[in-house]
Amino acid sequence: ETIGQNLDRAIAAHPDRDALVDLPSGTRLTYAELGAAVDRLARALIGIGVAKGDRVGIWAVNCPEWVLVQYATARVGAIMVNLNPAYRAQELEYVLKQAGVSVLCASQRHKSSDYRALIESVRDRCLDLRSVHLIGDDSWDRLLAAATAVGDGALIARQAELSCDDPVNIQYTSGTTGFPKGATLSHHNILNNGYSVGETLGCTERDRICVPVPFYHCFGMVMGNLAATSHGACIVIPAPSFDPEATLRAVSEERCTALYGVPTMFIAELDLPNFTSYDLTSLRTGIMAGSPCPVEVMRRVVSEMHMAEVSICYGMTETSPVSTQTRRDDNLDRRTGTVGRVMPHIEVKVVDPVTGVTLPRGEAGELCTRGYSVMLGYWGEPERTAEAVDPGRWMHTGDLAVMRDDGYVQIVGRIKDMIIRGGENVYPREVEEFLHTHPKVADVQVVGVPDQRYGEEILACVIPRDPADPPALEDITAFCRERLAHYKIPRLLQILDGFPLTVSGKVRKVELRERYGPQLS
Ligand code: ATP
Ligand code: MG
Repeated sequence: ETIGQNLDRAIAAHPDRDALVDLPSGTRLTYAELGAAVDRLARALIGIGVAKGDRVGIWAVNCPEWVLVQYATARVGAIMVNLNPAYRAQELEYVLKQAGVSVLCASQRHKSSDYRALIESVRDRCLDLRSVHLIGDDSWDRLLAAATAVGDGALIARQAELSCDDPVNIQYTSGTTGFPKGATLSHHNILNNGYSVGETLGCTERDRICVPVPFYHCFGMVMGNLAATSHGACIVIPAPSFDPEATLRAVSEERCTALYGVPTMFIAELDLPNFTSYDLTSLRTGIMAGSPCPVEVMRRVVSEMHMAEVSICYGMTETSPVSTQTRRDDNLDRRTGTVGRVMPHIEVKVVDPVTGVTLPRGEAGELCTRGYSVMLGYWGEPERTAEAVDPGRWMHTGDLAVMRDDGYVQIVGRIKDMIIRGGENVYPREVEEFLHTHPKVADVQVVGVPDQRYGEEILACVIPRDPADPPALEDITAFCRERLAHYKIPRLLQILDGFPLTVSGKVRKVELRERYGPQLS
């Protein structure tokens, strides 16, 4: 089944149910209305000459048009290229050229960036780029007007040419550890994964999913949009980009049943001074994913946000994305201490990162995954694809994990983030979990920085609960001394009011290391 065929089934099954609610613009679409809007845009794309396999870029924060572009490109067999809303000229040019984007759909502005001017500044060098359409501008209306010359027959004929194994999307990775890579994904890859995630959440047409995470990233577009539409649920957009107050307002006003977020988003919501004034009793479930989910945060989400069935997912852009997920009936230990069990129709193994030999349960090694969800490859980069996906089709995730005896997987950290202090391996995650229980700590990141004596030294970057009363280094070390081995105790402390984030909300540890690590002379 293609994404277009799947959407058709949802429209036929419940045409009058809400499909999409965008609070900033007040847009509300039922499934029938969503289908009509998608078809109009799809005919318009055919009208301006978009052929099967052409790359169509979407460069916008969350808005209804983003969703329309997602489904319309899938309908016409184009390959949608997600552009990160935070890109500036250089990154924009890189992706437009790298993916060979011929049609670009974009917002006009985002925060301080003038997208129109940025696009003009690179346009001459992007030789494949034929047309640019700015959402809400005349150029968008001109695009939609192209639909009138194209009949339903052309769209039906195009659908008949498509196969579920065709590429439908190039998703760039978050760029947490370096420059983003373009994972090329098929209908089969992402539709099955979105459906499967929704299935584990127990999603039905009665669900309303609040999606404050960016559509640009697989969390929003697959685990959000595709999970919702493949189960007939409704997508609720609280704001163009993450805003904790708008998110909780959306949950209470729209009676959302599910709420998504990366851990830092849940922390921001829980810490709102007027948190208790929002009615969150409609919430049943949600997903916390993308980076390590601290146990303390998870406990508060379950008890204070009513999300008793909240699920933790683990995955990566290259695997469509989700590989493991906790289930509705998992107890708090499994829900807070692990990233769940392997999803249906996916295999996982833990190997020695050096020898590649499969390790017994209980031992930490590199997690590898295989199945329908593994990407077709990195767009235009066969060498990098071969480094990540081995000849047996196993995806090497770059993450360290332990498979417990009960089959539940624990993520220990990224291979790249592991700290080696004086020959001892320190997993930042463990130290972070512990520091989260310190009363003066609101959020914390632990990184290794170069040190002449120990090779690496441990730096704790702390966002204090009360900026006027931050913890001192002595507080932190004294606190750790009772409970952590001496080599795991941070010897350096940096108080911050925020972390450098990727647009998908992940902390860029690389940047913390560069900015706050002492420079070796
Ligand atoms: P890049 O590959 O460009 O450096 P990235 O790896 O952050 O960026 P994504 O594909 O968005 O890009 O993220 C996948 C990674 O996120 C995983 O490899 C893993 O390190 C981390 N991750 C995802 N979910 C979890 C989770 N539940 N717990 C811990 N880590 C997670
Ligand atoms: Mg990655």
